[in-house]
Parts: sequence; structure tokens; C-alpha cells
Amino acid sequence: MACIFCAIVSGEIPSWQVYSDDDALVILDKYPVSKGHLLIIPRKHYQGVEDVPMALADKLWRLATALAKIYRNELRATGVNIVTNSGRPAGQEIFHFHIHVIPRWTEGFQGIFGPRHEVGPEEAEEVLSMWREKIDKLTRLLEE
Ligand SMILES: [Zn+2]
Repeated sequence: MACIFCAIVSGEIPSWQVYSDDDALVILDKYPVSKGHLLIIPRKHYQGVEDVPMALADKLWRLATALAKIYRNELRATGVNIVTNSGRPAGQEIFHFHIHVIPRWTEGFQGIFGPRHEVGPEEAEEVLSMWREKIDKLTRLLEE
């Protein structure tokens, strides 16, 4: 069965890309919970967190931590969630492992996966340009 994230990794399906390296892409979630909701997607296909080799897990969660630090420390997010869903009962919908990084911009807690909307070009450009200014910072954090 065709995997939508494998098609995004190969470029068959376009995506709004924030960052990429040899192991992973960081893209905008097409149906974000909040502005700047990111997905970390390994280039190789693994179904769930239980399938990811530990060395790759180190890199992907490190990347999640760096993105979250920038949201909180540089971009003034009021909060951030780092979450992965493994298995349908946990809410997994796309069976190619991914980590959600969800920044919060409001004060009250509204659940982790609240109402979602489809991201449009204007919102995407806003988030992408925000991240273009922070890419050096991200690279430095990943080298620490
Ligand atoms: Zn896949």
C-alpha cells in the first residue's frame, strides 16, 4: 500500500518543508492543531516508535527537542507538545513513524489534538519564513 509520507520524502507529493537532513524531514502538518505544528518524518519507513532503531530515535528526538527549544526560547510560544502516536488506539492515522511538535500561542489548555484546520499558502509562508530566520540557531543546537 502506498505510504503518503514515503511519497512526501521522495518528493512525489509536495510539502511545506522547514528543515531536512540525511535522516529526516521537518514539514508543516497539513492539518495543524496550531500555527507552526510540525512533523518530523524519518526518510526511511518505520511504522511506529517501536520499530525505530535506537540510534535514529536519538537523532529524531534530539531534533524535536531543538525545535521545541526554539519555539519556547526564541519564538515565544506559550507552550509546546512533543508527541508521537503509535497504533490506531493511540490515534495514529498515518502508519509511517512521525513526531509532532506543536507550539502553543494561547494561555489556556485546549487538549493536545483539538480542532484542526487545513493550512493555506499564507499561513505556510508565515511559518516557513519564521523558521528560515532560525535555521542557523537550529543547526547550532543540533551540533551541541
Ligand atoms: Zn512510509
